[in-house]
Amino acid sequence: MSQKEEEPYKSLKRVIWQYENCLSCVWFEPNDPVNADLLERGKCIEPNLKKFELIVSGRDWCNKFKEIPQKTIDSKQEQAMKE
Ligand code: SF4
Repeated sequence: MSQKEEEPYKSLKRVIWQYENCLSCVWFEPNDPVNADLLERGKCIEPNLKKFELIVSGRDWCNKFKEIPQKTIDSKQEQAMKE
């Protein structure tokens, strides 16, 4: 494949369905942490964005994305089940 043919393919790779989204972001505070999915709505608590009181869905995204560790997900879900 020549260099020219590879360019469109590279562009297409960038528009695939996002895997980095609010649902998998450490700053996403879902309404229901136990059943949260891509359609779940919640607050964005990223320190610089928090003042805007953004309500985002699990499938939203921004350049402040930071992947949430599985341990944090487990902890949030355990806490939610106690409440
Ligand atoms: S808006 Fe950005 S920082 Fe906030 S939860 Fe979504 S990806 Fe994370």
